[in-house]
Amino acid sequence: MWPRPGCQRGLVPLAMALVPPETLSPSKISSFKDCALAFRFSAIDHLPEEPSPAAVRGTLVHLALEHLFEHNAADRTPDAARAALQQAVAEIQADPEFIELALDATAEQAFFDEAAALVEAYLEMEDPSTVHPIGLELMLETRLDGLRLRGIIDRLELDDDGGLVVTDYKTGRSPGPAYQQGRLGGVAFYALLCEELFGVLPSRVQLLYLGDRTVLATVPTQQATRSLRRKVAALWQAVETACEREDFRPRPGPLCNWCSFQAYCPAQGGDISLVEAARSTSAGQLAC
Ligand code: SF4
Repeated sequence: MWPRPGCQRGLVPLAMALVPPETLSPSKISSFKDCALAFRFSAIDHLPEEPSPAAVRGTLVHLALEHLFEHNAADRTPDAARAALQQAVAEIQADPEFIELALDATAEQAFFDEAAALVEAYLEMEDPSTVHPIGLELMLETRLDGLRLRGIIDRLELDDDGGLVVTDYKTGRSPGPAYQQGRLGGVAFYALLCEELFGVLPSRVQLLYLGDRTVLATVPTQQATRSLRRKVAALWQAVETACEREDFRPRPGPLCNWCSFQAYCPAQGGDISLVEAARSTSAGQLAC
C-alpha cells in the first residue's frame, strides 16, 4: 500500500486542463463509472498501481490457456494444459509484477496451487479439443466518431455454423443474479468491436468464470451495440468535460479497499497535490 501523507481534504486544482486518454477500453469505462478520480489517476496521470496476487494469478492462468490453444486441437489434452501451466509459471517468475508481489515460499506455493486449480476447473468446463480458435489475446481497435476504442479478446473462435464466438476468461467467481446483466452488458463492447472490424456481430459472447465453474453467455444484438455506441459517446463527453474542468470526483465505496491511490485521494485523507511529483517519477521510470 502507498504511504499515506498527512490528511488534506478538498481537490487541489492543477495548473492546466488534463489531457484525455488516447483510447477507451472496457476496463477504462468501468473504472470511470466506478470512481472518476481513480480513473484519472490511472488513465490520465498514469500513476503506478500495486499488483495484487489475484490480478497476477489471472495473468498466469490466461497465459497458460493461451499456450494450451497454441496446440492443434487433438493435442489439447489435460496433460498439455498442465504443461502449458508449467510453461506459464516459468514465464511469470520473470514478470516484474510477480516479482513485486514478493511472495514467501509458502505464499508462492499457494499462489501456484490456486492457479493449477483454476486450470483444472477450466478443463471441467469445456473440452479444449472441440474449440476452433481464430485469435488468442487478440487486440482489437477501431475508431468511433474520432474516438479510439480498444479491447483485448482472450479467445475469438468459430462455432459449428461459422459464427464468431468471443470468450473471456474470468478467474474469480461469477456475480450474483442482480449483477449478471451488468457484467454481460460489458461484453457488448467486444460485440461492437467485432461489428466494426469484421462487419458482423458475434453469435455468442461468453464469460467463463473458472472460480466457480460458471458460464455466463449472451447473444449480442444490434440494439445492444447501438445503445452502447450512445453510451460510449456520452461517457467520452463526460471524460472530456472532466478533463477541461479538472474535475474528477472521488466515489468512496468498497473498491477503496483495493485502490492503489489512497495516498492521493482526498476522500481517503490523501493529498492530491502529490500527484504531480508522482507523475514525473513514473514518467522518468518509464523513460529509463
Ligand atoms: S480511494 Fe476510493 S474514492 Fe479514492 S480514488 Fe480510490 S476508489 Fe476512488
